[in-house]
Amino acid sequence: MLLDVGLADERTDAADEVVGAIERIVDDVDPPTTPLWRGSSSPGPPETIVAIERLDACRKGVVVAARAYLYVSRRTIIILHTMKGVVYQGEHHVEVDEVDEPTLQGPNDAIIDITTTCICGSDLHMYEGRTDAQPGIVFGHENMGIVEKVGDGVDDLEVGDRVVAPFNVACGHCKNCEEGKTGFCLNVNPDGDVPAGGAYGYVGMGPYQGGQAEKLRIPYADFNALKLPGEPEDEYEQSFALLADIFPTGWHGTELADLQPGESVVIFGAGPVGQMAAYSAKIKGASKIYIVDRVEARLELAAEHTGAVPINFEEGDPVEQILSDFGDEVDKGVDAVGYQALDPDTDVGSDAYDPARENPAVVLNQLIDVVKPKGQLGIIGLYVPSDPGAPDEMAAQGRLGIDFGKLFEKGQQLGTGQCDVKKYNRYLRDLIAEDVADPSFVVTHEAGLDEAPDLYERFDDRDEDVLKVLLKP
Ligand code: ZN
Ligand code: ZN
Repeated sequence: MLLDVGLADERTDAADEVVGAIERIVDDVDPPTTPLWRGSSSPGPPETIVAIERLDACRKGVVVAARAYLYVSRRTIIILHTMKGVVYQGEHHVEVDEVDEPTLQGPNDAIIDITTTCICGSDLHMYEGRTDAQPGIVFGHENMGIVEKVGDGVDDLEVGDRVVAPFNVACGHCKNCEEGKTGFCLNVNPDGDVPAGGAYGYVGMGPYQGGQAEKLRIPYADFNALKLPGEPEDEYEQSFALLADIFPTGWHGTELADLQPGESVVIFGAGPVGQMAAYSAKIKGASKIYIVDRVEARLELAAEHTGAVPINFEEGDPVEQILSDFGDEVDKGVDAVGYQALDPDTDVGSDAYDPARENPAVVLNQLIDVVKPKGQLGIIGLYVPSDPGAPDEMAAQGRLGIDFGKLFEKGQQLGTGQCDVKKYNRYLRDLIAEDVADPSFVVTHEAGLDEAPDLYERFDDRDEDVLKVLLKP
């Protein structure tokens, strides 16, 4: 809990006034604890920084902790509050830390109070040290909340609006954004390996603090925030939160595969995104849906809510199982697994997920095998150009042993890449709001931020009970 010094958003040209205000608050506190506050002042042009390092106090038996930094820059003083956020510390280690509260950095920004933020399977790639993510990243790219502040240039949003933010950060006016390819915006990630596409709280996706925290800054807010009907914590809260990523991403898989009503489709992966792909296939009227995984509970969930036929790849080659059940190759396929795929030809060993069983090309090759000639593949599972934990040197550079000859021979097409969430989220929102779709069946946990480290660990261990975790800061 932050101690409000009462001047957070005010600008003043008198540094003494702010310091004095803090001292008065400190004097008010009864009984004081030690250290009550520590101030330091480093004078000198062009900036004088007065940092009140920590304010620990006990008032009416309630512990109030605050850390206020006063940046005195020329004649302007801004106080940056801190907030709680889920911070990456290194391999298999996140902590809930105090981090800087976001501020408006430009006229098109908005700040939202997070009501729901989700843990995503793609966060696990960073969590496991399987990316170039460095400690200090605040995780969280699936964010929803209430608008708390808007910049002067924001026209369509008002304080109090309920919004969900696509995990993509996009400008809205570059060549790709104009074509609806907002996952590959050309203006938001100048420093990435590929200078296209931005996201909150993700390695290589630009300088955007994640939303597994109390607040989030949304750049280009008119473009990036989707308004939602209803009230916070109503019966749609969980489903709307899934509009930030997994519902549109699952939908995108079926779009990349060009799935048409009446066609057959296989979805590899029954994690949250695979569930959403199967659910999208059901909504679109697929005649037959197969879903492939190794976790029985996930397969059963998909069968129950999407009508998919479950295929457990630990019980035999999934391609053979599908061919024998269906009697033919399927029309379309979706990869909702990505580069950390397990090879069914390896020993099962213990029940725990074992990286030694990985073969990053296995699902792609299974898809090429099981989808018909001229069929289409939607690759939404994540693949990376650099994988420090890869099983071999080629894979470490993102180079995979794909059966490209067979793909060519079968004349298949494949679509790849992260989802352009904005292309779909408005329409999927309306499916939810009109009670046509309810993707919330994947949600297994709602928890406070403090429980995030434990839930990351359990999700990473592929704990069968943990499928989709929603955090409530
Ligand atoms: Zn996600
Ligand atoms: Zn753009």
